[in-house]
Amino acid sequence: MPSPIFVAGHRGMVGAAVCRRLSLEPGVQVLTRPRSELDLCDEGAVARFFEQEKPATVIFASAKVGGIHANKTFPVEFLTDNLRQELATIHASYRNGVKRFLFLGSTCIYPRLAKQPIREDELLSSALEPTNEAYALAKIAGLKLCQYFRQQYGVLYHSAMPTNLYGPGDNYHPDHSHVLPGLIRRFHEAKLAGSPSVTIWGTGRPLREFLHVDDLADAIIHLCKLENPPDWVNVGTSVDVSILQLAKQVAEAVGYQGEIHTDPSKPDGTPRKLTDTSLIRSTGWAPKISLHEGLQRTYQDFLAESQAGTMRSI
Ligand code: GDP
Repeated sequence: MPSPIFVAGHRGMVGAAVCRRLSLEPGVQVLTRPRSELDLCDEGAVARFFEQEKPATVIFASAKVGGIHANKTFPVEFLTDNLRQELATIHASYRNGVKRFLFLGSTCIYPRLAKQPIREDELLSSALEPTNEAYALAKIAGLKLCQYFRQQYGVLYHSAMPTNLYGPGDNYHPDHSHVLPGLIRRFHEAKLAGSPSVTIWGTGRPLREFLHVDDLADAIIHLCKLENPPDWVNVGTSVDVSILQLAKQVAEAVGYQGEIHTDPSKPDGTPRKLTDTSLIRSTGWAPKISLHEGLQRTYQDFLAESQAGTMRSI
């Protein structure tokens, strides 16, 4: 991996995990910039940053992200902010001689009714899930742009599509978070308040797969070391659980003993989103952190972050 490596979005959950993982790599110089110093939507500022710093590798972990409610409510921002960041960073990379670029997306780029488990070639085979279409379109554009640069100009720009992530530094906003951090917070607060029951959104029947962000960071470094990586590759566990099962596991990790109710008036989103991970496994990578272990660790991280006053809730 040629250094210096620019980690875009280093304060986000993924970027921070990538920086932690890179600190284990001998001799690697990591470049980062907080948003207050470099707004990735600002094409001119991004161009100046690349001209000055000349990174050799870019790991693009910056994105406007959110759960089902935030995505449904702010499609304009989810599409435009993500597109602007991607376009500015990919173009500046090419113009300044970046030979390797790892673009991060998400498995929501695949069609709502993709064949399960989802293989990489399901991309663009049918319509997207409407609740996160705007974000998915931006991520598909970024993935394709990297593929086109690789085809047309011979640079090694490629992508990784992680399944639902969780871990330290997650967003615990009650409405805007993803399901796993949302439930950790709700069950924790119900335990403290002695509430007899907790209500989860939707029917509890959708199936989701969860990957600890430290496993993703490890996969990213692995992919950045491959001589001929796939244009895009799924990163996941290939194990899914229903939202109700997840709620039970979160309740157990948190130590909440009350009842769990569902609220079918809230959207379920896509019915199932299980990745086929045979492609990345064939390159020699596999996840190491089970959901059981990951939940225990993440609840401890949540407690530490809320005690330190660093818990994100945006
Ligand atoms: P998705 O994977 O893109 O659909 O995003 P989410 O992580 O936001 O939601 C996953 C599933 O969990 C959906 O079926 C939600 O209805 C369900 N869910 C249940 N309770 C919650 C909650 O408190 N927050 C969120 N975000 N989703 C919840």
